[in-house]
Amino acid sequence: MHPSISYNMKKVKFLLLAVAAALLTACGTTNTVPLTGRKQNLLVSDQQILSLSTQQYSQYMATAKRSTDAAKTAMVKRCGERISNAVVSYLKANGLAADVAAYKWEINLVQDKSANAFCMPGGKIVVYEGLLPFTQTEDALAIVMGHEVAHAVAKHSAEKLSKQMKAQYGAQALGVLLGSQSAALQQLGQTAFGFGANSVLRGFSRSNESEADYMGLIFAAMAGYDPSAAVTFWQRMAAGSQSSIPEFFSDHPSDEKRIANIQKWLPEAKKYYKPQQSTSVPLPGRTK
Ligand SMILES: [Zn+2]
Repeated sequence: MHPSISYNMKKVKFLLLAVAAALLTACGTTNTVPLTGRKQNLLVSDQQILSLSTQQYSQYMATAKRSTDAAKTAMVKRCGERISNAVVSYLKANGLAADVAAYKWEINLVQDKSANAFCMPGGKIVVYEGLLPFTQTEDALAIVMGHEVAHAVAKHSAEKLSKQMKAQYGAQALGVLLGSQSAALQQLGQTAFGFGANSVLRGFSRSNESEADYMGLIFAAMAGYDPSAAVTFWQRMAAGSQSSIPEFFSDHPSDEKRIANIQKWLPEAKKYYKPQQSTSVPLPGRTK
């Protein structure tokens, strides 16, 4: 081939690539959720989400009071570490190492009477003391922490933020994206990661909640916790919510539906369950 033709073709190819990249940005990116294989459309990058959530986490922890109960704090940290290790191993084994490379796991038990917990994108886990009377056992705590970590792994905050951006800015959502630190995104992020009604840390869609239940069950099992603890835990929650509805859980699917789903998923989750976590356990592959 003539050198100049080859050069021009390279130039054309480069231009086509640039156009494709621009189009990809315009429509956001399509991400595949680990374990479930569901496709989601994201308008915000991992970096944008991490920068927003890190800011909000620092602000939250600056005023939060850490638990003074050493034994409970140790249990929460151990449980969170086992789950995060299992998640990282799973993602690495499935070609998703890049997804967790930016994670900086932090696990806290804080003084707060609400039955609540959350995991911010990037692995910042917070458990409220008020959750522990409901979980009672470390296995049940692992069910809740697995669920919260699943929200982060499945990028539900990015998904919700993307939907909010489309709703708020419509066709101009792309313009919002052009500057990674644009004022609009920054402002949206403040609301999104705050603790108000529109927070992306609560009020996920029912389908996202179910997805987190499913993934969390498997993550807990991978970490060596008995997934069947989920059934008795949710039964306790259902009984307890008659008198004092834990605010956080009120957004979640109805207890009956949730328990029915968990019972349906248990046989699959149990395949991942090894009572004592061992480094020699072969890693499971994707199920779907
Ligand atoms: Zn949830």
